[in-house]
Amino acid sequence: MLYTTRTLSARKNIALVAHDHLKEALLNWCKKNREELSHHNLCGTGTTGTLIKKETGLAITPMLSGPMGGDQQIGALIAEGKIDILIFFWDPLNAVPHDPDVKALLRLSTVWNIPVATNQATANALIQSPIFKNSVEIDIPDYQSYLAARV
Ligand code: PGA
Repeated sequence: MLYTTRTLSARKNIALVAHDHLKEALLNWCKKNREELSHHNLCGTGTTGTLIKKETGLAITPMLSGPMGGDQQIGALIAEGKIDILIFFWDPLNAVPHDPDVKALLRLSTVWNIPVATNQATANALIQSPIFKNSVEIDIPDYQSYLAARV
């Protein structure tokens, strides 16, 4: 695989997702980091996004609810280079009906090499990192050369 680079601008497109048992933890994290988050474009899965909007007043675009396709919508945006950071408090202790979608979301985040936090400690590290505030370059698969090698 050949790689190229993509620039994540200082104002990031950030996706926020939390499974049901982790929603309170993510809401508290958003409240604590409200000021920093307000400098970015936010989206989230349906329930998570709507709760964040209601409880924090942050501007956030809710997609569909996760089990109804929201994880897939965010995954598609990642593949299109339209999401820069994923904060995903996924639940390691309870099964969810849309487990394949969860896996797909995490998989595409890795394919496209975006910074991902899957728990609170990593979310804290990420939001304190220069990556969050500044413009940064990431390596991504060079899709044009990938395609050219196949056709
Ligand atoms: P929800 O989806 O925010 O609509 O609950 C989260 C998820 O389970 O992916």
